[in-house]
Amino acid sequence: MDAIAAAQVLSEIGYLLRQDPTEVYRARAFSAAAWALALERPDLEALHKANKLTAIEGVGAGIAKILAGLVETGRSSYLERLRTETGQPARDDESTIDLAKYQGDLHSHTDWSDGRATMLEMARSARALGYRYLGITDHSPRIKVVNGLDAERLLAQSLERERVENEVEGIVLLQGIEVDILEDGSLDLPDAVLELLDVVVASPHVKLRQEPAAMTERMLRAVSNPNVDVIGHPTGRRPGSREGASYDFEKVFREAGRHGVALEIDCDPARMDLSPEHARLALECGCNFSLDADAHAPAEFAYVPMAAWMARRAGIPMDRILNFRPLEALTMIAK
Ligand SMILES: [Zn+2]
Ligand SMILES: [Zn+2]
Repeated sequence: MDAIAAAQVLSEIGYLLRQDPTEVYRARAFSAAAWALALERPDLEALHKANKLTAIEGVGAGIAKILAGLVETGRSSYLERLRTETGQPARDDESTIDLAKYQGDLHSHTDWSDGRATMLEMARSARALGYRYLGITDHSPRIKVVNGLDAERLLAQSLERERVENEVEGIVLLQGIEVDILEDGSLDLPDAVLELLDVVVASPHVKLRQEPAAMTERMLRAVSNPNVDVIGHPTGRRPGSREGASYDFEKVFREAGRHGVALEIDCDPARMDLSPEHARLALECGCNFSLDADAHAPAEFAYVPMAAWMARRAGIPMDRILNFRPLEALTMIAK
C-alpha cells in the first residue's frame, strides 16, 4: 500500500474518532499522522521491513501497528470496526479518485489575509506538486481579525498576482476571494467587485446557529448570486468541536445545482466539510464539487490527498469535481 492510500485510511479513522467527543485527541493524532504520510510519502513497505514505521513523524506504536496491517493485508480491521460501530459501514458504490489527474486547488490563502506564507511561496509549492492552477482566495473585509481584503487591496493584490505568475512558470494564479456570506445571504463585497474576479468562493463563517429556516434563506440567496462559483465549507462545522449550520440541505443543494454553483469538500482535517453523507446528497441534487485544501501554508496542500476518501466515499465521479478539469474547462473564469 502506498503512503497516500494509507494516509486516507488514517484520515478516515481520525474522522470517525472525532464523532466521539472523548476521542478528540486520538482523532487528532490520526489526522496528524495522515498528514505526515501525505506530505512525506515514505516507502511504507521498506520501513515496515526494517521495523521502522515509528520513524515517521507522528506515528507511535499504535498507529505503526495499523500501518503494518495495511502493508501486510491492504486492509485495516480497526477502520472496519470503527465504521461498523459508528454506523457508517463500507459501501460498494464508492467512486475512484485518481489524484494524479488533480489539476489545481481553487481555495487557498496567503499572508494578504490569514495565510502564513506569501503568494510566491504558495505558487511555488503548488507548482512543485504539479498543479496547473491555484485559486488565491483570501478573506473578505468583514473578517477584520484576519485582515480581509476590500476592493482597493484586491487591486493591489492583482499586481502581485501578475508578478508572481511571471516568476513561477507553468502555473496560472486565479485571482479570487473567499467572500463571507452575511446573515441575510448577501455577500461581503459588491457584485461590481466580485464579477471582476476569476473565482469566488462564498463561505459561511459566522452566525452558523441561525434558525434553519433563516439559514436556508441565507444559503439560497448566496447560491443564487451569479458571481458565486463555489460554496466554501458549506456547513462551517468542525467535527468534534463545533456543529455546523443546519438548513434545508436538499433545497439549497438543488438550487446550487441549478445555478451551476459547486459545493466544496474542504479537506482541512479540522473541517471535513461537506461530510460524505451531505456530499452524496449534493451529488443526487446535481451539484458539482470542488475538492480543496483551504491551505493557509504550503504544507497544507497535502490535505487533499489525505482526505480524498471523502469524495470517494460519497461516490462522486471525477467529472463532477472541478479540480480534475483543465483550466480551459473551468467555465467560471472571467476572461
Ligand atoms: Zn473559510
Ligand atoms: Zn478559506
